[in-house]
Amino acid sequence: MKAAIVTKDHKVDVREMDIRPIKAGEALVDVTHCGVCHTDLHVKDGDFGEVPGRVLGHEGIGTVVEIADDVTSLKVGDRVSIAWFFEGCGVCEYCNTGRETFCRSVKNAGYSVDGAMAEKCIVTADYAVKVPDGLDSAAASSITCAGVTTYKAVKVSGVAPGQWLAIYGVGGLGNLALQYAKDVFNAKVVVIDINDDKLALAKELGADMVINAKNADPVNVIQEKIGGAHATVITAVSKGAFNQAVDCVRAAGRVVAVGLPSDSMDLNIPRLVLDGIEVVGSLVGTREDLREAFMFAAEGKVVPIVKNRPIEDINDIFTEMLEGTINGRMVIDMNM
Ligand code: NAD
Ligand code: ZN
Ligand code: ZN
Repeated sequence: MKAAIVTKDHKVDVREMDIRPIKAGEALVDVTHCGVCHTDLHVKDGDFGEVPGRVLGHEGIGTVVEIADDVTSLKVGDRVSIAWFFEGCGVCEYCNTGRETFCRSVKNAGYSVDGAMAEKCIVTADYAVKVPDGLDSAAASSITCAGVTTYKAVKVSGVAPGQWLAIYGVGGLGNLALQYAKDVFNAKVVVIDINDDKLALAKELGADMVINAKNADPVNVIQEKIGGAHATVITAVSKGAFNQAVDCVRAAGRVVAVGLPSDSMDLNIPRLVLDGIEVVGSLVGTREDLREAFMFAAEGKVVPIVKNRPIEDINDIFTEMLEGTINGRMVIDMNM
């Protein structure tokens, strides 16, 4: 099968490889679509450790073509997703308390196990969340990481209807964070980016306020105009954005970290203590979060902005991602 494989020199090779037979508990998926997440770029670059030989991809959608004899949760013909949260141990304190993405024995698609940027992918059947009917596969791929991650992050932010959420970065994740915040959580949203095209898109998607951090200081604008946001979700891959985010919330505000720049952020202790600021990380979402995130997309409340591309374009897509020229998500279409 054809697959997008990480090389030793931090590039991606699209080439033929063999796939092993499935084992007990597994299913074989014929992949049709796989979105390209900024996390794939971090994985390829070795930001979380070197993984040469790994098949990338954790926004996969495809059809089950084979199941092991013991599998009862899937059947041949089901349409399923292949997400970053590929499998948990199922028995630990995290797995059993609704926090399975933090399982210490977790497996992640396209990072610790082979992912979905390939014609075929083996999944652990009980962990492959089904895609609802009526949701287009390219759109569903974008929900599989970008959607569920931001849906969960907005949940974690605790923002209430009518309250202000500041979203840093309106790329692949951020445009969906904006849509979930507005159209599911009924929040007021201010979006901060450094790219006018992305801010124009945010306006079209209903942002109540947009700020280009290159032209204005978002902290001043947000504090002056709305007295500080009630919460913020940071998807920007920039330490500067993380530092600003802490200062753009009002007292008792919550800062939800989602982006993964390889950096430390500054945290002023008096600001943290005297203003009761909460800072929390949010990692993708559970299988249940993904079911919910899919449902809102199937209902049309959230509409992913996707463009289909052939798998051979993968290195170009990473260049475009670094240059900031992608609006929404590029999705590898295995039939192109
Ligand atoms: P992306 O490249 O599509 O979007 C990033 C956006 O941030 C772009 O619009 C860019 O213009 C903007 N940006 C850059 N610098 C900025 C700044 N200083 N201020 C404001 N905006 C700025 O990337 P993506 O696919 O949306 O992923 C974003 C990050 O989230 C990556 O680091 C990715 O690894 C991470 N991620 C985390 C999780 C999680 O579970 N926590 C899941 C998926 C992705
Ligand atoms: Zn991702
Ligand atoms: Zn576990």
